[in-house]
Amino acid sequence: MFDVAIIGGGPGGATCAAVCAASGSRVLLLERGRFPREKACGDCLNPLAWRVLDKLGVSEAILFSQHTKLEGVRFVGLDGGSVRVPLPKSGRPELGITRGRLDAILLQNARDKGAEIHEETTLTSITRHASHWQLDSDGGSFSTRELVAADGRNSTVARLLGLLPSLLPGERIGLQTHFSAPKELEADIELHFLREGYAGLAPVGGGEANLCLVSRAKDLKSIKASAMQKYNLPENQSWRSITPLSRAPLLAAQESLWLVGDAARVVEPFTGEGIAYAIRSGALCAEALLARRPDRYLLAHNALYKGRLWVNQLARAACLFPALGTAFVRLGQLFPPALGLLTRKVVGNEPQ
Ligand SMILES: Cc1cc2nc3c(=O)[nH]c(=O)nc-3n(C[C@H](O)[C@H](O)[C@H](O)COP(=O)(O)OP(=O)(O)OC[C@H]3O[C@@H](n4cnc5c(N)ncnc54)[C@H](O)[C@@H]3O)c2cc1C
Repeated sequence: MFDVAIIGGGPGGATCAAVCAASGSRVLLLERGRFPREKACGDCLNPLAWRVLDKLGVSEAILFSQHTKLEGVRFVGLDGGSVRVPLPKSGRPELGITRGRLDAILLQNARDKGAEIHEETTLTSITRHASHWQLDSDGGSFSTRELVAADGRNSTVARLLGLLPSLLPGERIGLQTHFSAPKELEADIELHFLREGYAGLAPVGGGEANLCLVSRAKDLKSIKASAMQKYNLPENQSWRSITPLSRAPLLAAQESLWLVGDAARVVEPFTGEGIAYAIRSGALCAEALLARRPDRYLLAHNALYKGRLWVNQLARAACLFPALGTAFVRLGQLFPPALGLLTRKVVGNEPQ
């Protein structure tokens, strides 16, 4: 019987596992993939994550591994007009770092702290008993008192328990790939508003760039063809895909069931905050779980997103209506502090 079982070894699950295991709890983590593995993600680590990464003791390892310290964000409108917003020079940096590298460091840290980690193990069914959960997977059955869903936006835990909302019609799809960084990219993130959706380009260290494309299914072929031509990508370039991009949030805690990261709430990828939210919610969940206080986690989880969601909603609107995004770019050209303020709200450091 485990004290805590965590499904998913991404940033949310690995953080939760490390904090619970460090306190002496018997922790099981099931992960479908084998690390290091890449993911459909923009690979930008928001500075909001640093405080928890410091507490976990992994900041040095992250800064030691290959990455790019990001210096600015260039917004490009439909007409090709652009504006560059420098990222704050003081405080901790925003990093471009592949999920292969970042997630492997976090999962190894959980293992080092004493969590029992089963990779290449997929959760397939859940039975709730009066005092515990029974979990079945393709790697065996396990029992646990507390269950944490850290298995991402399409959470198997939420689906098996009938909690996952159905997909909205016309929901968007994200495509992602790595390729040799164009010379002119330097250390900036580029965000392009496009007729079909948007594209994000960021250097991730070692001369590589991450390219993400987001559009509705009907426009996917066209947005991909334009990107392949623009960046001179071969026909056999391999792409990862992910959907949905938006989804209704779920209750983050109820009795012995806890949800962290994307499993609980998905934010618009454009602002590059999802990894930091996953890491921070993983830590908050672990602290409340160890104190057996779901109410405390619910409050802390709401507070984590509160005050920032409006920027996310604004970003979503700008992405869904690229003409609005282009208007923001023009406003930024005429009055740079406006876009600068919004950008710093998203990637600003918090007091350490
Ligand atoms: C196109 C796009 C671009 C993005 N760009 C950025 C960005 O630049 N910066 C940023 O901060 N955020 C970005 N995000 C968001 C970010 O990717 C997520 O918020 C983040 O990965 C959430 O972490 P998590 O730990 O909650 O879940 P995930 O990282 O999704 O991890 C979930 C884990 O659970 C495992 N799993 C799933 N099902 C099972 C199962 N049944 N059994 C066992 N294991 C299972 C998976 O293999 C996976 O490893 C982007 C998202 C998209 C879609």
